[in-house]
Amino acid sequence: MTDKKAILIVEDERRIARFLQIELEHEGFATSIEENGTRAYECILQGDFDLILLDVMLPGMDGMEICRKVREISQVPIIMLTAKDEVEDKVRGLELGADDYMTKPFAIQELIARIHNALRKHQKMDDPLQGEKLTVKDLVMYPSRYEVTVGGEEVQLTKKEYSLLEYMLRNKRTVLTRDQILQEVWGYDYTGDTNVVDVYIRYLRAKIDDRFQKKYIYTVRGVGYVVKD
Ligand code: CA
Repeated sequence: MTDKKAILIVEDERRIARFLQIELEHEGFATSIEENGTRAYECILQGDFDLILLDVMLPGMDGMEICRKVREISQVPIIMLTAKDEVEDKVRGLELGADDYMTKPFAIQELIARIHNALRKHQKMDDPLQGEKLTVKDLVMYPSRYEVTVGGEEVQLTKKEYSLLEYMLRNKRTVLTRDQILQEVWGYDYTGDTNVVDVYIRYLRAKIDDRFQKKYIYTVRGVGYVVKD
């Protein structure tokens, strides 16, 4: 079956995560488990999940923060799970855009009912994330929307910078020579200096690598450039 709904279980208590996995797979869902909050966030940005089950207390980024950041770019249904039976947490989670909330321990049948409900509700809305998505690490490009985000934060690029980045993302892990980049991004009839590629790589790095203090664009000395995870 390829039309299974995919659920990401973000939960650091293995016993609970495993229990959820068994029950949800029995119910016909495809599941993945992520125990670390920071990794879970990156996983959500890159993966194609239909729903997220999100624990609040996590190593790395906590569930509230994940929820807030995911909501900046995606309407994927989120059900928060927490051990804390605190109204404050519940209100905060819902304010941050979670669809629903369950306090542990909960009856699995109730959770499954809420999952179906959240999926149904979501199906009725238009998913703004539909369409093509190009990614490297936590950088995401949506060509149909002409939009680039890093860790959920929008990056403003000029048309040329955007074209250059798009070409590199479409050839992720492939080392591209300056000539290849020139031909593809500037066109066959470009007669200017090949240094223009280096100049624009510098512009991109300032807006992406430097700003977010992570390496996205690698120089392969004597050959060219590559983006890779
Ligand atoms: Ca936890």
